[in-house]
Amino acid sequence: MSTSLLTQQQQLADLQAADKQHFIHPFTDSKGLAEKGTRVIERAQGVYLWDVMGHKLLDAMAGLWCVNVGYGRQSIVDAVAKQMQQLPFYNSFFQCSHPPAIELAQKIASLAPQHMNNVFFTGSGSESNDTNLRMVRRYWDLKGKPNKKTIISRVNAYHGSTVAGASLGGMSGMHEQGDLPIPGIVHIAQPYWYAESKGLSPDAFGLQAAQALEAKILELGEDNVAAFIAEPFQGAGGVIIPPSTYWPEIKRILAKYDILFILDEVISGFGRTGKWFAAQYFDLQPDLISIAKGMTSGYVPMGGVIVSDKVANVIKQECGEFTHGFTYSGHPVAAAAALENIRIIEQEKLVERVATDTSPYLQSALQQLAEHPLVGEVRGIGLVAAIELVKDKATHQRFDSNMAVGMFCRDACIHHGLVMRSVGDTMIISPPLTISHAEIDALVAMATQALNDTYQYVQAK
Ligand SMILES: *Cc1c(COP(=O)(O)O)cnc(C)c1O
Repeated sequence: MSTSLLTQQQQLADLQAADKQHFIHPFTDSKGLAEKGTRVIERAQGVYLWDVMGHKLLDAMAGLWCVNVGYGRQSIVDAVAKQMQQLPFYNSFFQCSHPPAIELAQKIASLAPQHMNNVFFTGSGSESNDTNLRMVRRYWDLKGKPNKKTIISRVNAYHGSTVAGASLGGMSGMHEQGDLPIPGIVHIAQPYWYAESKGLSPDAFGLQAAQALEAKILELGEDNVAAFIAEPFQGAGGVIIPPSTYWPEIKRILAKYDILFILDEVISGFGRTGKWFAAQYFDLQPDLISIAKGMTSGYVPMGGVIVSDKVANVIKQECGEFTHGFTYSGHPVAAAAALENIRIIEQEKLVERVATDTSPYLQSALQQLAEHPLVGEVRGIGLVAAIELVKDKATHQRFDSNMAVGMFCRDACIHHGLVMRSVGDTMIISPPLTISHAEIDALVAMATQALNDTYQYVQAK
């Protein structure tokens, strides 16, 4: 029995009215949203979402980069329900622990790079980066180098939305609100070749961008620098994948100076690149890895920091009380969801499948779009990709930002049944790791239709 259209429309109108009245949305222009009305999503299965009007959408963003195992996993529901019955909550302060968090810490240590065998649990990616800030500063205090406090990050990085997260991040729009960044955090240039190369080859540009780190360390003085933080590829910044020279040069610099390296794998962790962690994909040796998102596939919130033996030994042996933690650090229900999520990824060999099957298939299918007159570049690794929309393919010239071309394309995608996100005029995707060839074909077909609509729009302007 299906609901009548009128009933559905009334339901949506009621929900939108209540939303407008009572709900302040994150990262949203509330006034603009109230005019357009919210899109109300009601249910999901596999890689698909349905809104309250019954429209079906292929979710090429896996929620918000997080639903790695896809929607509708009954075994996660069961694991969570069982844990809620047995022990819905207990803390891990005051000499206490519980089986799900212990088992999860052990499991993550087994998947992480070899030199990383400890986990500090948090409730989100932002809290993970707050934890990093406090842990690296405490580490240097304990090493007898209390001046090593400054953290070097990058322009247009995303490290979350708490005060420390937004400060570590390099988003100017975020810094403008709330008087950020806080002191002790500085930003160097990002390795965004397509937008900022100024005629340099990718290799030369990658080296130059990496050498900004060395220049900044020398400017501040090695004795004042605690750590460098970076995403393996920038996610929210627009799926920016550094040129192949970038990470080797960063590695050379990190080896030369005694500073810690924080790798923010909140998006890249848990299979997104075709390895468990992008540290393995790019052959990096971080001291700390931030995790969240794909850790539970978003079924319940959870984050954490994977800590190297070098840092863990100091924090565990020499710190006394590390005066930091969250009520929900290692929450048993979230830990149960994470364990089942990881079990699914292992059982279905999703990491291997991304590496050998779906990533090559998706990336080559997307390359067809590079021929489109609007598309300046298609880039991607694993199961993330970006499509740059430009006015001039040869010079990489953008459209006037008033034209909001990316936003138009995003709406056109929705119209054709596809959720793609826009970052300015960069279209980005990060689908569930379970996506099939047929679903990838459907994704590319809908994206093509949306690009055609967008091309009509820019030509009519
Ligand atoms: C999403 C994200 C965060 C913040 O995670 P929250 O769970 O939203 O706090 C941090 N770093 C990166 C790279 C992210 O993509």
